[in-house]
Amino acid sequence: MDCFEAGILMLKELEGKTSDRETDALMRHLLECPDCLMHFRLLKELINDSLYEKTPVRAPEDFEIQVMTKIRNINAITVVRTKVMKYK
Ligand SMILES: [Zn+2]
Repeated sequence: MDCFEAGILMLKELEGKTSDRETDALMRHLLECPDCLMHFRLLKELINDSLYEKTPVRAPEDFEIQVMTKIRNINAITVVRTKVMKYK
């Protein structure tokens, strides 16, 4: 499994839509891939926060910064891709 596939499975997993085999494959990838593991943890935190909005914040102080950085990175990649496509 590559990281792209793992990303898709993460979202399915968080929605509870993965089969046992998919969960197993995802967990095996997460054990080998620290980047995806961190990404998965962030996604889980995001979902927990939106489910339990009234509970005190348990996330680390820089959690929001981490998420924002990730989102900015994604935006930057999208912008670069769009520009590359335009000039082709
Ligand atoms: Zn990965």
